[in-house]
Amino acid sequence: AKAAGKGTYRFFASEMHEQALLRQQIEEDMQRALERGEFHLAYQPVIDTQSNALVGFEALVRWTHSVRGVMSPAVFIPIAEESGLINELGEWVLRTACIEAAKWPSSVSVAVNISPVQFSSQALPTLVTSALAYAGLPADRLELEITEGALLNDTAKTRAAIATLKGLGVKIALDDFGTGYSSLGYLKTIPFDKIKIDQSFIKGATLRGSNNIPIIKAIVGLANDLGMITTAEGVETEDQLALVRELGCTLIQGYIYGRPMDAYSAMNRAQGNGSA
Ligand code: C2E
Ligand code: CA
Ligand code: CA
Ligand code: CA
Repeated sequence: AKAAGKGTYRFFASEMHEQALLRQQIEEDMQRALERGEFHLAYQPVIDTQSNALVGFEALVRWTHSVRGVMSPAVFIPIAEESGLINELGEWVLRTACIEAAKWPSSVSVAVNISPVQFSSQALPTLVTSALAYAGLPADRLELEITEGALLNDTAKTRAAIATLKGLGVKIALDDFGTGYSSLGYLKTIPFDKIKIDQSFIKGATLRGSNNIPIIKAIVGLANDLGMITTAEGVETEDQLALVRELGCTLIQGYIYGRPMDAYSAMNRAQGNGSA
């Protein structure tokens, strides 16, 4: 048993070493990719449950690595966060999304993901102000999506940061709701505009008989009471669509209404009179 333990340790050690090398390589490649402008944004439509109108797009960063091919943000964002590159990448995302959104009809807004690392930076309000001004985008057409990870530290500081951002006129959404630990506490003290119900609750949710239904119901009820709206994320099927409609979610985002698309397609969709 002892020998096996040792062998296992050695196996993990070399695997960890490989992982570390891979991370370092990806980090270097990302730096170069930023310099060369190899990132781009994809835009996923967000639809009003009642009117079926297009209300906005979520901007999602994309990177096609010259050797490894399409890289998932789920892989490279954490590396960017650890290395600090997220600040530069995040600023580029913010600016690019605002410039693109300024071309859309005024009823269509844009949502940008803000990493906890960016959120804890004093510079964020300045970056937001500058991106809006440069793009000529009214503040109320920009929404910042933050996760609970951004809220874990200092509550007073977090509240102040959100107050400053809201003071600029931008909207704040709590992303991936329900996946963290103490979300309910945050809801009491932080005036979010929107709660995005994590796709794990929608997945497998069919019209009848899923135990996610009471949870979605509770989140929608809570949001309503707090004066916040809700987005159901990851809606893929007609069944799920009918369910989240029935449960009173305000907005829908998911493959059923469109996958993340390039800027050109998003523009066409935005100009298509707002209907889904
Ligand atoms: P997220 O913010 O929760 O974004 C939603 C993710 O769900 C996107 O994955 C989107 O493509 C995917 N999705 C949307 N509808 C459906 C659906 O119906 N079914 C399924 N299975 N998936 C759906 P993506 O683009 O791979 O992004 C993954 C995560 O990476 C994002 O999760 C976000 O946390 C992060 N991310 C993406 N872009 C950025 C960015 O510009 N900045 C930061 N900080 N993070 C980003
Ligand atoms: Ca998001
Ligand atoms: Ca999400
Ligand atoms: Ca997520």
